[in-house]
Amino acid sequence: LKEDLEKLNEVAPTMSDKKKLLGGKGAGLAEMTRIGLPVPPGYTITTETCMKYFEEKGFPQGLWDEVLEATKKLEEHTGKKFGSDDNPLLVSVRSGAPISMPGMMDTILNLGLTEKSVEGLAKQTNNPRFAWDAYRRLIQMFGNVVLGIEHNEFEEELEKIKEKYGAKQDVDLDVEALKELVEKYKEVYRRHGYEFPQDPYEQLRMAIKAVFDSWNNERAIVYRKINKIPDDMGTAVNVVMMVFGNMGDDSGTGVAFTRDPRTGEKHLYGEFLPNAQGEDVVAGIRTPHAINEYSKQDANRDLPTMEESMPDVYEQLKNVAELLEKHYKDMQDIEFTVEKGKLYLLQTRNGKRTAAAAVRIAVEMVDEGLITKEEAIMRVTPENVDTLLHPQIDPKAKKEVIAKGLAASPGAALGKVVFDPDKAVELAEKGEKVLLVRPETTPDDIHGMNAAQGILTARGGMTSHAAVVARAMGKPAVVGCEELSINMKEGYFIARGHRINEGDIITIDGTTGEVYLGEVPLIPPSISGNLEKILEWADEIRVLGVRANADTPEQATKAREFGAEGIGLARTEHMFFGEDRLPIMQEMIMAQSKEDRVKALDKLLVMQRSDFVEFFRTMEGYPVIIRLLDPPLHEFLPSREELTEEINELKMKLKEVTSLREMDLLLSQINEKKRILSVVNELHEFNPMLGFRGCRLGIIYPEIYEMQVRAIIQAAIQVKNEGKEIYPEIMIPLIGHVNELKLLKEDLEKVAKEEMEKSGEEIKYMFGTMIEIPRAALTADEIAKYAEFFSFGTNDLTQMTFGYSRDDAQAKFLKKYVEMGILKDDPFKSLDWDGVGQLVRMGVEKGRKTNPNLEAGICGEHGGDPKSIEFFHMAGLNYVSCSPYRVPIARLAAAQAQI
Ligand code: PEP
Ligand code: MG
Repeated sequence: LKEDLEKLNEVAPTMSDKKKLLGGKGAGLAEMTRIGLPVPPGYTITTETCMKYFEEKGFPQGLWDEVLEATKKLEEHTGKKFGSDDNPLLVSVRSGAPISMPGMMDTILNLGLTEKSVEGLAKQTNNPRFAWDAYRRLIQMFGNVVLGIEHNEFEEELEKIKEKYGAKQDVDLDVEALKELVEKYKEVYRRHGYEFPQDPYEQLRMAIKAVFDSWNNERAIVYRKINKIPDDMGTAVNVVMMVFGNMGDDSGTGVAFTRDPRTGEKHLYGEFLPNAQGEDVVAGIRTPHAINEYSKQDANRDLPTMEESMPDVYEQLKNVAELLEKHYKDMQDIEFTVEKGKLYLLQTRNGKRTAAAAVRIAVEMVDEGLITKEEAIMRVTPENVDTLLHPQIDPKAKKEVIAKGLAASPGAALGKVVFDPDKAVELAEKGEKVLLVRPETTPDDIHGMNAAQGILTARGGMTSHAAVVARAMGKPAVVGCEELSINMKEGYFIARGHRINEGDIITIDGTTGEVYLGEVPLIPPSISGNLEKILEWADEIRVLGVRANADTPEQATKAREFGAEGIGLARTEHMFFGEDRLPIMQEMIMAQSKEDRVKALDKLLVMQRSDFVEFFRTMEGYPVIIRLLDPPLHEFLPSREELTEEINELKMKLKEVTSLREMDLLLSQINEKKRILSVVNELHEFNPMLGFRGCRLGIIYPEIYEMQVRAIIQAAIQVKNEGKEIYPEIMIPLIGHVNELKLLKEDLEKVAKEEMEKSGEEIKYMFGTMIEIPRAALTADEIAKYAEFFSFGTNDLTQMTFGYSRDDAQAKFLKKYVEMGILKDDPFKSLDWDGVGQLVRMGVEKGRKTNPNLEAGICGEHGGDPKSIEFFHMAGLNYVSCSPYRVPIARLAAAQAQI
């Protein structure tokens, strides 16, 4: 009640405190009540109480007394009485967590109806049919939610009664039929050893307990895991007076968004079901009406809109929507019910939206003066940016449309058709791309939706479960595709005469709602419009630089397009894997003398130089960090197994030779393979990642790094002579001891000088090192005396700090570790702040002590992870470097870290 809410501010002053304590729904109801909007009265049991309930394994002391007191107050306020046969109070008991978990937890409606009060409701409403229908719904819902009786068991009874009375739809059942159905439902209860409680307080007690318990049901747990929602938040329980949308044609229920959740367009958008209760909308059983002409795009065009059928209430809804949006300064998702021409608001929350809508709404709200640029940047999530950078259907591609449904969540997806969510998970884990196809989805399908590339359903509207969840996950979805006729049993669907079996590939476009036969080519996205604007604002705000890891000129071009301010890591070894280069690289490795090695290196020099020329050209005006050779040499040679097999095959052939010439040829081939095998054996190490790699190679074979430095300087001279501004940075990998760096620096600077003298040109370049061995971080002050820059290689640093192999740990135990909660995240994906992070912090601090001008960045995979970026910002790094496609995400995350 409005007058009670002043006290709330004392315990929960801010909106986020309120949400934490009362859950999103409870906080929204309280706030709407406080600002005088029409909300049915009720009370909220806090999330803290829920967690206490789990701790104490039962209702905490005093809870029940407070519930009784609050219910009494509700009775006084409404003039209704719980369980009365005259003017009964009915309530809904709904879950509501601090972070929205749509459909994951439980709700019970019409609570308070009993054999006695059903008569009261019939009298009060003058509508016995309505009363008995509400009663049978309560028994069904209560049985399912509170006692765990399968939904189907009730549905079967319903079907039988419908058949007996010749009723086509539920609404065709009359009072007699409904009374009989109630008796049948009671029998279902008895089959399970229960009686439906006739004491409304007993119903209430059991319902509250069930809602608490639903916090820990399986689907809620999975949902929290996917969305990284903490398990210790708990759910609030909202007990609210029922209002009825199913009291005739002047009643109804619906959902409205203050802006279009698909595109972000500023227009009231929503659906409405006349003469219906809330669950009918979500279940997608009846086709909803559009609330207005604008929303008709996706609803049934022939049905009258709410604006047409109840213009006054629509006008009121529109005003309330505007008010709520201004109040919350964000797009609202409003649930409402109209009872006999009176509008009630049942919920408001910040609406879920597609990535495109999130960006558009954020930008437009800044333009409207509603929020600041900083707020806009905080409204867009890194995942939103990621989604917008997903591939789109190639408009030029030839494609055959086999069905069209509602464009529920944008983006294109293709994959093998799978009907079963468990199977979707199974195939996805094997690395297959799948599309989940269902008649409709329920919260039990959530794991399958998460595993799938996209979702296609035959039923449901724009606010159906599939649509809402897909948008939240950022997955393409087409829903309500009524052209599909799905045969779940035999695993196929028919659409426009095509039979698509499980395992066949289809493509969906969640932006248009179209479904295509087979695999349609996708094109990479580009940055434009609102996203460009948000990223420009992010660039104005952030202080952390963003560079890209790029190994080819193509990647460097992409990186520039996405806004990278230079190359933070070019792994030169990747350039050696090209078809034309690998044999020369192998020749270099196989060389028996320095002379032979240099011969091969001379050939590689020409190739490296041309790569670097391209890099410097693409990155004109920006720094380019080129890292000298890093991996163990055996990576460039075939494996022992491969070689042995090849030798055996040649030996087999030898048995069948028919000429001496053929024999000679085979023998020489065998000898060559044997020679390679002996080198492979020589290079073999039990622990190659801790072995002969990185600067260790450069020290033992100085000619390799010398060649690379020559190529860098020669390329730099060439591009400089083209009149371009260039900033080369030469980086040594895997330093663990300062003496390694000292030695290499002396040698390589000499080489660089030689090259410059040869050409008579001066090139300004920086010389630096990676910090990726814990000892390097610990002795960073020493190392910084010989380095102008540090780049933290957090891949290796994580590997060596944890002692986990970066190649094998994930599959063997790391995934389990995360599931078991031993680690919060995979430390190779998201930086371990407490351990590896401390080494980064120490490295920067110590390094800058002896070299105050030290440039410090990071180039491990963590450079594209928002949570890690936040840490790097705090640790005072100058930049992060990540893969080109993560650059926009990093730009946003860096600005968010600054805000
Ligand atoms: C690192 O170790 O973090 C790094 C960037 O180098 P690489 O991944 O090439 O070992
Ligand atoms: Mg490394």
